[in-house]
Amino acid sequence: MPATDHQVVVIGTGFAGLCTGIKLKEAGIEDFVIVERADGVGGTWRDNSYPGAACDVPARLYSFSFAQKSDWSRTYPTQPELKAYLEGVARDHQLLPHIRFNHNVEDLRWDDAAQHWVIKTSAATLTARVVVSGNGGLAEPKTPDIPGIETFRGHSFHSATWDHDYDLRGKRIAVIGTGASAIQFVPEIAKQAGRLDVYQRTPNWIIPRPDKEIPQWQQWLMEKVPMYRNALRSLVYCGHEARVVGIVLNPALMKFFQKIAANHLKSQVADRTLRQKLTPNYLIGCKRILISNDWYPTMTRDNVELITSGIAEVRDHSVVDQEGNVREVDAIIYGTGFYATENPIAAKVFGRNGQSLASSWADGEHAYLGTAVPGFPNLFFLTGPNTGLGHSSMVLMIEAQVRYVMQALASALNEHQPLEVRPEVETAYNDKLQKKLGSSVWSTECDSWYKHRNGKITTLWPGFTFGFMRTTRRFKRADYLARVG
Ligand code: NAP
Repeated sequence: MPATDHQVVVIGTGFAGLCTGIKLKEAGIEDFVIVERADGVGGTWRDNSYPGAACDVPARLYSFSFAQKSDWSRTYPTQPELKAYLEGVARDHQLLPHIRFNHNVEDLRWDDAAQHWVIKTSAATLTARVVVSGNGGLAEPKTPDIPGIETFRGHSFHSATWDHDYDLRGKRIAVIGTGASAIQFVPEIAKQAGRLDVYQRTPNWIIPRPDKEIPQWQQWLMEKVPMYRNALRSLVYCGHEARVVGIVLNPALMKFFQKIAANHLKSQVADRTLRQKLTPNYLIGCKRILISNDWYPTMTRDNVELITSGIAEVRDHSVVDQEGNVREVDAIIYGTGFYATENPIAAKVFGRNGQSLASSWADGEHAYLGTAVPGFPNLFFLTGPNTGLGHSSMVLMIEAQVRYVMQALASALNEHQPLEVRPEVETAYNDKLQKKLGSSVWSTECDSWYKHRNGKITTLWPGFTFGFMRTTRRFKRADYLARVG
């Protein structure tokens, strides 16, 4: 059997990859590397540096339970603060020597004979017994397929690859998309742009953002009295978990939130026609609920126009709407989201007998516990299929998943036996999951990035986060095949 370079290769240095590295070290496993496509850590919080970028989950909860920070400056952490937090975590836990920056994974192939993975990256080829992928579900920006878009001669970029060198002052800008990213950067760039055309395909329900600065005395108290800090975290946790009752158990209860959102819109937009354009026609929660205090006021600015008639085509210096209006622009900014249901990494992964992950996921991504896929031994996904949340912090899910993966990994390494999940176990798990999703608010009438193009919800976890923690608490060897290969 050929030698293997490492026991474990981890992909990505976002919350998921860093958490895995920390837990590997805690378990005494030092023979691992983390491959990172960029030149710095932080994942989504390194990439999404657009003006106004911030998290819509409070910092108390959107941070590792084992690396809590007392001096968050605001309720909702901003991108620079989150990026700095993750850089600090990587440094404090001595992860940097393990990270191989500028190593973009190009091909990930299971070698049956050698019983290891061959990881071809842009910089080197590595082998490992186990691969843990923290490559992120919202990592690959998506640009829209609009006629003529390739002929545009002005400047253009996506919210996730913001061009900070482009001076927006006085420019005529078109923004396509009005999702979670756009509602953060549009209010910021509207202050600079000469004219801003906002192309909205579907309005979102938006509730107020209860954001405020955290005073120094409170930061001090957090630092000195961990019980106080933990109590606050628990309070925020419970407040968010309560939302599951409406989202998953009884969508009719969401009407209460819808009233809050409708009142928010009414209080900020006096113009009835504009209000109508901004009012969604689906039950709140079906698409992600957004939080903002400045989106609606921005829509009422003199230099901003909300265009809802749809885009017919893009020409070399203009955008043409479905009513035939031609608007000249200097730049187009895409706030059009990510490949959430068709993770591009799947096209690069080949399991036992050369099986392609893309073909295994052709009808929608699926995995056991969002982690293991039949036919792909010793490969574990973090924030994999059906682990996303519509109500709380993904860091909770990541920690639970890493806890599970560490047990699986120990079993695989100790037994010198690759682990491959039993197909019938994975199928039964997903059947149950899909049944639950069928009665959730996400299955009511709307299109969202939560759904695969065939309508199946492949991204979200239908329940409380403590339900996921319980389900993943104990690794069961019997869920996996006795022998592989
Ligand atoms: P998104 O929520 O998927 O929004 C994409 C927007 O682009 C939608 O308004 C969509 O319209 C529109 N769009 C897509 N294709 C289009 C086309 N061909 N023509 C016209 N409009 C088009 O993407 P995102 O805003 O980047 O956010 C993605 C996710 O990232 C969020 O839901 C959230 O989970 C995460 N995120 C979180 C934060 C935070 O914590 N604050 C911030 C940013 C992002 P339709 O609605 O009609 O599809």
